[in-house]
Amino acid sequence: MTQYPVSAIMLRDPSLLVGALIAEGWRVIGPKLDQNAIVYDQLINGDDLPRGLTDEQEAGHYRMVPGRDGRWFDYVVGPQSWKKWLFPARQKLWSATRRDDGFDIEAQATDWPKTAFIGVRACEIAAMAVQDRVFDNGSFADSAYAVRRRDTLIVAVQCARSGATCFCASMETGPRASAGFDIALTELDDGLFADSGSDRGAAILARLNAHPAQPRQRQEAQEVSARAAAMQVRRMPANAPEVLRAQPDHPQWDEVANRCLSCGNCTLACPTCFCTDVEDVTDLSGNHAERWRSWDSCFSVDFTYVHGGSVRRSVKSRYRQWMTHKLSSWVDQFGTSGCVGCGRCITWCPVGIDITKEVAAIAASGSEG
Ligand code: SF4
Ligand code: SF4
Repeated sequence: MTQYPVSAIMLRDPSLLVGALIAEGWRVIGPKLDQNAIVYDQLINGDDLPRGLTDEQEAGHYRMVPGRDGRWFDYVVGPQSWKKWLFPARQKLWSATRRDDGFDIEAQATDWPKTAFIGVRACEIAAMAVQDRVFDNGSFADSAYAVRRRDTLIVAVQCARSGATCFCASMETGPRASAGFDIALTELDDGLFADSGSDRGAAILARLNAHPAQPRQRQEAQEVSARAAAMQVRRMPANAPEVLRAQPDHPQWDEVANRCLSCGNCTLACPTCFCTDVEDVTDLSGNHAERWRSWDSCFSVDFTYVHGGSVRRSVKSRYRQWMTHKLSSWVDQFGTSGCVGCGRCITWCPVGIDITKEVAAIAASGSEG
């Protein structure tokens, strides 16, 4: 096991860490309250962190409400994920300008100052690892994604509670992160237990000059995560990949298609969904052209449009494609599930469709299919 040179410390509040990172030249992105939801945006100082708030989540339901007094991170994941930053919703890939003898093509440069993400949850670290396999997998690399990933410091926050739509424990992606971060914070009654997960994280903690954590506080940090795991009321059946592979004609697909609006909200909120569209645009003179990439969704009819028509015309076929890819064929393709159990698709589905319940319904009556 890797040993980092600094043992864990206790922080009175996270502003000390945010302030130190900003003073060292990091752009710090973390949770902020915007339109009554937790979003990930640039922090000017530690006061930007929402304090004393918690979230209520259920299928199709999200509210911010007063939380435990003085707690900094008493909410779980909101509508946005870190993919908003690492894999932007709309991105210029290159531009072309006409010259007398042809075109000049200019690849879009990646503008990414050294950046610290603060408040990354275990399921979100797992989601980044899933997207790494898509965008930077050794054979194929999205160079802009690779730059952003490499130049980003990850400050995790270990969840002290689970939301009602969380099911990371059954996906083995949380609620406690054990790797994939530079620093991990656990909020205790007497402050934040801060541990390092990399040499650069350890060096930052050493410069904070804070009190070392006691063995009792390390133990408490573990117990906080165990309690958060025990709170989870939803779970994904372990045999979901096999169940879905075996049931392409199950009647539940018709049943869910009757409720699904095919709005694509679940794919946009999902931290692992990566489908895109590519669009070429020109100015009116025809002298300047640009290629843009933007998020798309397998719920859109046009997503499968090929010479004359779409392949997946029914809502049933699109919902089935999304769920079987996410939970089953993703495993064949990438070696892991495409779901990390964050629960966003459940909370942010306007009609409250619950991926765990859909799988359970198919699993429970699989023989009818
Ligand atoms: S499928 Fe749903 S629960 Fe799974 S990672 Fe995506 S949004 Fe989260
Ligand atoms: S499952 Fe829900 S969020 Fe996803 S496309 Fe259907 S209605 Fe929209």
